Amino acid sequence: LLDDHAEQVREETFSLDGERIYLRATINLISDIKTAVKMKAEGIGLYRSEFPFLIRNSFPSEEDQYLVYKKIFDGMESPVITLRTLDIGGDKILSYMPDSEEENPFLGLRAIRFLLQNKKIFVGQLKAMLRAGQGRKFRIMFPLVSSLDDFKQARRMVEKSIEFLKRDGFECATIPELGVMIELPSAVVMIDDLAREADFISVGSNDLVQYLLGVDRTNEKVSGLYEARHPAVLRTVARIAEASQKHNCPLSICGNMAFNRGLSYFLVGAGVRNLSMPPGQIPQMQTFLENVDVKKAENDCRHLLQLDSLESINEFLDEAVAAVK
Ligand code: PEP
Ligand code: MG
Repeated sequence: LLDDHAEQVREETFSLDGERIYLRATINLISDIKTAVKMKAEGIGLYRSEFPFLIRNSFPSEEDQYLVYKKIFDGMESPVITLRTLDIGGDKILSYMPDSEEENPFLGLRAIRFLLQNKKIFVGQLKAMLRAGQGRKFRIMFPLVSSLDDFKQARRMVEKSIEFLKRDGFECATIPELGVMIELPSAVVMIDDLAREADFISVGSNDLVQYLLGVDRTNEKVSGLYEARHPAVLRTVARIAEASQKHNCPLSICGNMAFNRGLSYFLVGAGVRNLSMPPGQIPQMQTFLENVDVKKAENDCRHLLQLDSLESINEFLDEAVAAVK
């Protein structure tokens, strides 16, 4: 079935009225890259680097990591290869990490917080990424950033890693583009400062919904409250898109929002042009977006942002989706 879709997928995606939209791949396993190439993904919007850490019994060495990242660069030509630094903690616990029990892991030592407290691990990962990306244009992004200071500290660690590599005689990439994941309400409040400072921003919609609505994304008891179409979510994303335009800071969306038809309709209406999704989702999203009139989506987006209930948003989006094509 994937092969059938792959044959038909177009190299580039344009909306009905000719707006260029970039569909990129979200990669968990190295084997996903093959599918991404088949589906003509225009680069990698998110590589979840924690996967090689999760399947091992101990921390992978810098060399092990280098070999994994090298496979990514060898597997795809694109200048947009986005490597995310380790996002452990929350529901992704490393069995070999001592002292990882936490009462509220999603509010605990997760992602960039973990790396900023474990600088050796952070630098090891960054060095492996920088060596693997040598001679290539690529991007590094940091998950769960909560302040401008988090980003500046992380950027400093990249600069230091480059210095260390040079000192040790390694050739390595010059500084890649550095981005911030927008997943926390505090990052949204600081969005103008982050968009001014970072080379790009990327909405982690799964976490943004969780932290904005205060609903654990893994708790079935509240799964009915986990609503990406909640008016607060739509208004927040629109606010982020506005800041991206104002500061000329490229914006992409990863997480499940990017491959939901109704939400992607809203997103292109809000000005988003970069969507990252599991590569198997690309063909159906391409066909859908090719039939979307972005001018109409922009008008509909303005209306959606006025709506004050989930019910009215659902009704409006379902109708808008049904009218496409
Ligand atoms: C997200 O939060 O939307 C995201 C892409 O990151 P993850 O799902 O890995 O937390
Ligand atoms: Mg996330």
